[in-house]
Amino acid sequence: MRVVVLGSAAGGGVPQWNCRCSVCALAWSGDARVKRRTQTSLAATVDGEAFLVIDASPDLRQQILSQPMLQPRRPGRSSPIKACAVTNADVDHVAGLLTLRERQKIALYATSATLSALAANPVFDVLSTQCVSRNPIRIGAASEPLPGLLLEAFAAPGKVALWQEGETVQIGAEGEESVALELQSGGKRLVYAPACAAMTPAMRERIAGADALLFDGTTYTDDELVASSLMNKTARRMGHMPISGRDGSLAALADVKIGRKIFIHLNNSNPVLIEDSVERRAVETAGWEVAYDGMEIAL
Ligand SMILES: [Zn+2]
Repeated sequence: MRVVVLGSAAGGGVPQWNCRCSVCALAWSGDARVKRRTQTSLAATVDGEAFLVIDASPDLRQQILSQPMLQPRRPGRSSPIKACAVTNADVDHVAGLLTLRERQKIALYATSATLSALAANPVFDVLSTQCVSRNPIRIGAASEPLPGLLLEAFAAPGKVALWQEGETVQIGAEGEESVALELQSGGKRLVYAPACAAMTPAMRERIAGADALLFDGTTYTDDELVASSLMNKTARRMGHMPISGRDGSLAALADVKIGRKIFIHLNNSNPVLIEDSVERRAVETAGWEVAYDGMEIAL
């Protein structure tokens, strides 16, 4: 299987339209140390002909424009994108579904909780059920969105989408609201977990032995957004464990055997985005890669 990172940033992208934090400032000025990034989305294929898009970011149209493999190949209307799977109902994971209208046959895969959230929002009715089939994925049950490619969802500690938050929010809930995905093909296994509030024994077990891991790299420190006065929320409050620190992902996965370890869903405040930063050196020294748009993972 081949997986291409269409977008590697968290909500807002890099740079974010209304931000001039130290990372965004470098990106706005075109400094080579910070690559511009679109919001997180993947494309997976077994045969190079049919593709599964994973998470439909608001940048999906731009991502298709930059990836010839996802563009129509025959005269008239067609697309190599045959299926789309989304991990939760966050705007940065579902807004791109609106790009996939225009009466194209696509199979949409999501948990019942996410499909219900979409059904409750009439703007998504532009995806006619005659063209876009809704396929509920149950935790622990595999589906086959493309021939030879198995998709399985598992619970990732997280929270409901920001727009679904009420007065109180349960952080670290494990249910259908936010899931991680495992792709399997030809005996190889890739785990994608763009939102993980905490490392649980079940999560660690699931990750162990994977040939590739694309993991939540939203922030480097828990209070990164608060400390730089960008937002009054910690990473954990947003449903993301930080990279560094005693309970961070570097420490939590230090002794777990994994093929390629890659941070994705990088918020524009994250100093690992600066290629010569000490934080970037720290993650690379620990054996991790930092995802960028166009990165390829061949398994
Ligand atoms: Zn910024």
